[in-house]
Amino acid sequence: MVHATNLGFPRMGGNRELKKMVENYWAGKLDEKSLLSGAKTLRAEHWSIQKAAGIQDGHIPSNDFSFYDQVLDHLHIFNVIPKKYQGLQFPLEAYFAMGRGLQKEGVDVPAMEMKKWFDTNYHFIVPEFTAEQEFSLRSRKPIDEFVEAKAHGITTRPVLIGPVSFLRLGKAAKGHNFDPISLLDKLVPVYETLLKELVAAGAEWVQLDEPVLTFDLPKEFKDLYAKAYARLSAVSGVKILVANYFGRLGDNIDIVANLPVSAIHVDLVRAPEELDAVVKLAKDKSLVLSLGVINGRNIWKADLDAAIATVKRAVAVLGADRVLVAPSCSMLHTPHSLEPEVKMDKQIRDWLSFAVQKLDELVVIAKAVNNGEDSVKAALEANRASMKARRTSPLVHDAKVQAEMKAVTEDMFKRKSPFTTRSPAQQAKLNLPAFPTTTVGSFPQTKEVRVARQNLKKGNWTQAEYETFIKAETDKCIRFQEKVGLDMLVHGEFERNDMVEYFGENLKGYVFSQNGWVQSYGSRCVKPPIIYGDVSRPEPMTVYWSTYAQKQTTKPMKGMLTGPVTMLQWSFVRDDQPRSDTAFQLALAIRKEVQDLEKAGIPAIQIDEPAIREGLPLRRSDWEAYLKWAARAFLLSSTGVEDTTQIHTHMCYSDFNDIFSTIQALDADAITIENSKSDLKLLHAFEKYGYANGIGPGLYDIHSPRVPSQQEMGDRLKEMLVYLKKELVWVNPDCGLKTRGWPETEKALDNMCRVAESFRNAA
Ligand code: GLN
Ligand code: ZN
Repeated sequence: MVHATNLGFPRMGGNRELKKMVENYWAGKLDEKSLLSGAKTLRAEHWSIQKAAGIQDGHIPSNDFSFYDQVLDHLHIFNVIPKKYQGLQFPLEAYFAMGRGLQKEGVDVPAMEMKKWFDTNYHFIVPEFTAEQEFSLRSRKPIDEFVEAKAHGITTRPVLIGPVSFLRLGKAAKGHNFDPISLLDKLVPVYETLLKELVAAGAEWVQLDEPVLTFDLPKEFKDLYAKAYARLSAVSGVKILVANYFGRLGDNIDIVANLPVSAIHVDLVRAPEELDAVVKLAKDKSLVLSLGVINGRNIWKADLDAAIATVKRAVAVLGADRVLVAPSCSMLHTPHSLEPEVKMDKQIRDWLSFAVQKLDELVVIAKAVNNGEDSVKAALEANRASMKARRTSPLVHDAKVQAEMKAVTEDMFKRKSPFTTRSPAQQAKLNLPAFPTTTVGSFPQTKEVRVARQNLKKGNWTQAEYETFIKAETDKCIRFQEKVGLDMLVHGEFERNDMVEYFGENLKGYVFSQNGWVQSYGSRCVKPPIIYGDVSRPEPMTVYWSTYAQKQTTKPMKGMLTGPVTMLQWSFVRDDQPRSDTAFQLALAIRKEVQDLEKAGIPAIQIDEPAIREGLPLRRSDWEAYLKWAARAFLLSSTGVEDTTQIHTHMCYSDFNDIFSTIQALDADAITIENSKSDLKLLHAFEKYGYANGIGPGLYDIHSPRVPSQQEMGDRLKEMLVYLKKELVWVNPDCGLKTRGWPETEKALDNMCRVAESFRNAA
């Protein structure tokens, strides 16, 4: 029999119960006991959902729950607690302090570093190891949760991050210069102890996640892996499943072939081409093979016929007892359930599958393989009907968009003239001073602004009332910018809830869920919009507000748009065409918006692309292709204007080393970037590569209410001028100001403008 199995279930709960509990606990509104018991109830509920759906007992995950982050959990499990947190109360105070910092009487500790979990939008706490690091079993969470499930009559498969991935994802603590992987020999014995305890508690299978197998790994890793897993597999009574996900194994298949474990899991959604190779490997090494055939990261129904065929191919070689049906990765990255989505278009809803629905898909696949397709006839027929409807639906396929895509020509990726010609033409029109000042777009989204939006949504306010309010906010913002002496103004983005959602709501091809929340970090969840079909722009999206703003001032007003790659990256995207195709459709829609803004007399347009870097594929060999289409998507969106129109872009990170030539290829007239937190290496790169367009490295950090002095900003600007030609330099903050309050915004921008003035006068 093949079994339906799972690698991890979303932990927040159908109504984000976990988020609410944890935040109430932080706010002192919920005591520790209630938090712990609430979490227990939630876990029990999630296990029973999985069991009721038909996920095989013994293969229902546990230890996938977390109060904040699973990597942070492992720091507690293996007692990797940096010194500054050791004096705090264990476990919860220290735990949350490591995740989010803690300020209370006599204590002031920052949070540990957070990083994106592979190429998802989930963030993990980066483990920090010292050269003398010792490990011990400190938290018994994996064992406790196994026992807890057992009490409900459910045998779970505890999930642990494998020891190699755990170390590889970490870093050496400040002041320590060594590679954390060198700690493997010290760490493995503690894993061994943990496995023994799990076996003693009744566990049969243990899942060890080793997703770093999707990275390019140094040669030595083959031996390191073999040695570590030889020891772990020797624990008597344990069956280890090593799980890789988020990509192909590639040449790391040699590593996997060397592992003396019982089973391996592979991601066949991301790497379908590896099926035959992994089946052969499982056959040669007598392994159980877990096939990731349902996408754990997206929201589309799976093509069940295709998945069944894949599973059958493996069964034909290995026999049914050696095949597990699984999602590609943990379902942590999908929303909980489709059930509350009653407002969504019925047709589109029928194409979707969230975590709860994905469980059913896994079970149907397993049943079809075990008992024949007739045993699940109705489910398969319904699935075929959905697949067919989606393949042919006019909601998805828009002939007009496709014709426009075909009509795209090579000259639509280029400005009319090079920057050296454009720049004086723009200057003649804009007449900007040296060291021109600007901002990145948004101004404080105060409580009043958010309440106004709610009032409109709830119907308490008419559209006209809302617009009057937004106009007043915009006016105030413009008056302030004039008063403080900014040179290139913005309208403030008061009409926008979010930089992706605002555009998604105005584009065809997008749909929004009501409750499709996915954990981003800690208690924070995001609700990514869903791109279901060919994207087009029924009407101008920003022209109304930008022209309104331009009319209120004689200073140049900068239009503000979100770029195609960021729109793509922060949405759930179609799986029926390459990502690049969707990006180009978005680009074409934005291009029209850019042209309409130009026609309406907006002299400068900023196209934000903060997500270009995070879209980088996990393997180096895939980077070039991605960067090429990402740059082309931006170019398609931005180049349809006259030389005199100034195109800005913005990115809120500064790690450009790997993507420098892409930044150059974007050929924006000005780029504003985050800089205040980075060292000068970044600027050095701009100098070294001879970046010759306008550039505004952020003069101050907007993530904190702190107001840097003129002296401090002046020093920063002086440092920049060592690397950058002064004619190219813009003066601006690091990012948008929407999370800030007005008082600090006013002071900081005043300081910033005074600094620009003094440099101007000195020049
Ligand atoms: N224009 C946006 C803003 O200022 C940019 C935000 C971002 O880079 N994430 O809010
Ligand atoms: Zn930014």
